[in-house]
Amino acid sequence: MAAHQEKKPSEERKHKSTQNGTRTSQVQWGRAWEVDWFSLASILFLLMFAPLIVYYFIMSCDQYQCSLIDPLIDLLTGNKHLFDIWNKTPTLTYRAAGIYTLWVTFQVFLYVFVPDFCHKFLPGYVGGVQEGAVTPAGVVNKYEINGLQAWIITHVLWFANAYYFHWFSPTIIFDNWIPLLWCANILGYAVSTFAMIKSYFFPTNAKDCKFTGNFFYDYMMGIEFNPRIGKWFDFKLFFNGRPGIVAWTLINLSYAAKQQELYGQVTNSMILVNVLQGIYVLDYFWNEAWYLKTIDICHDHFGWYLGWGDCVWLPYLYTLQGLYLVYHPVQLCTANAVGILMLGLIGYYVFRMTNHQKDLFRRTNGNCKIWGKKPEYIECSYMSVDGTKYYSKLMTSGFWGWARHFNYTGDLMGSLAYCLTCGFEHILPYFYIVYMTILLTHRCIRDEHRCFSKYGKDWKRYTAAVPYRLIPGIF
Ligand code: NDP
Repeated sequence: MAAHQEKKPSEERKHKSTQNGTRTSQVQWGRAWEVDWFSLASILFLLMFAPLIVYYFIMSCDQYQCSLIDPLIDLLTGNKHLFDIWNKTPTLTYRAAGIYTLWVTFQVFLYVFVPDFCHKFLPGYVGGVQEGAVTPAGVVNKYEINGLQAWIITHVLWFANAYYFHWFSPTIIFDNWIPLLWCANILGYAVSTFAMIKSYFFPTNAKDCKFTGNFFYDYMMGIEFNPRIGKWFDFKLFFNGRPGIVAWTLINLSYAAKQQELYGQVTNSMILVNVLQGIYVLDYFWNEAWYLKTIDICHDHFGWYLGWGDCVWLPYLYTLQGLYLVYHPVQLCTANAVGILMLGLIGYYVFRMTNHQKDLFRRTNGNCKIWGKKPEYIECSYMSVDGTKYYSKLMTSGFWGWARHFNYTGDLMGSLAYCLTCGFEHILPYFYIVYMTILLTHRCIRDEHRCFSKYGKDWKRYTAAVPYRLIPGIF
C-alpha cells in the first residue's frame, strides 16, 4: 500500500514538518481522542445489550425453534417469566470448559509455535514474517502470518476425527453451543479487561496508546493500538482471525453434521452456507497478510469491541444461518439454489477484486494496470505524531472509481446470499445482512472521518472525484 510504501521512505518522500498549519489536525488520525455524547451512548448501549442480544438469539433457537417473536409474546402475556427461560438455559459445564480451553490453547500453539510453511510451497500465497502498516506513532510491526496453516491443520484434524479416529462427535460444537457461549464470554471479557490493565501498566508501545479519559469508551474501543505479549503474540491478529474465524467453518460443519444426524441428510441450503462462508473464511486466511492493512488491524485499537467481539459476537452471530438450518432444514429448488449461489459468487468476486485492485495499486505505488489501463489517482500527504510527513495515493480507477467502498458492496451481496438460503419463514437468519449493512455503513462513515483527519483537503479532492460511497448514483 502506498502509505506503507513509505516504510523505508526516501528523503524526498519523507521529511520532518512542523511548519504545516494542518499538523495538529492531521496527526489525529486513528480512533477518537474525545468522546461525544452520541458515541458514549452507543457504547454504553452495546456494552449493556450486545451480550444480551447474542444470548437472545441463541436461546430463541434452543427454546423457541429460532423464533424471535415467540419469547417476547410469552413474556408479555405472562405465559413465561424471565427466570423460566433462564432456568431452561444450559449452564456452564466442565466438558464445555475443557473443550474451549483445549481449543484456544491449540490455536495459541499453532499461532505462536508453528512458523508458516505454506508460503514455501503454495504459489502466490504470502505468509511468514510480514510487516504491518505505519502506526500513528510511526512504528512498523512485524507479524508471523500463519493463519492459513492453522486453518488447514485444524480442519485436517477435524476431518481425520470425523472419518477415522472418532475421538469426538462432529456435532460436538452444536451439542455444547450454549455452555460454550459462557466460555467464550469469559475469554472475551478477560482479554478485554487484561488489555485495559496492560495499557496502563505495561503497554507494548506507549506512544500508540490513546486515553480519552472516559473509562467506558476506553474499555470498549481500546487504549493500546497493538498490544503484544513477547515479540510475536499480537492480540489483534490472533483474536481477529483465531479462534473466531478458524472456528467459523468448523461451527458450520458441526451444524451440517447435526442435520445429518437428525434428518439423515444434509440440505442444499446447508451446503450453500458451508460453501459460501467457507470461501469467505479461506479468502481471509489466503489474504491474511493483506488484512494487516485493513481497518481492524491498522486503525482500530484493541478493546472490548475487538476482544469480546471476536470471541463471542463473530462465532455466534455470523453462523446463525447454519444454526437456523438445523432447526428448519430448507431444501431449495434448483433455480433458487443456483440464483443464491450466483449472488454469493458475484458478491465474493466484487469484494475480492475491489480489495485486490487497491492492494495491487498500493503495493506497486500505482505502477500497475487496472482494467487494462494505468490507474488514475489523487496524490495526498499525512503526518505521524513525530511530525514526519508521508505521501500516499488514493486511486480513482476500477471499482474504486465507481464508489469509495465498493468492496463493502460486494461483501453485502455475499451476506444477503447467506441469509437467502434460509427462505423467508423467520427473520432470525436475516440478522446478518441487517447487522452487516449497519456495520459497513457505519464503517464507511468512520473510515471517511479518519481519512479526512488524515489527509485533510486531499481527501476532499478524492470525494469530489468519487462522490458515492456504496452504490453508484444512489449512496
Ligand atoms: P478498506 O479495505 O476499504 O480500507 C479502507 C482504507 O483504504 C482507508 O482507510 C484508506 O487507508 C484506504 N483507501 C481508501 N480509499 C482508497 C483509495 N481510493 N485508494 C487507495 N486506498 C484507499 O476497508 P476495511 O479495512 O474496513 O475492509 C477490508 C475488507 O474487509 C472489506 O472488503 C470489508 O468488506 C471486509 N470487512 C468485513 C467485515 C466482516 O465482519 N465480515 C468487517 C470489516 C471489514 P489509508 O489510510 O491507507 O489511505
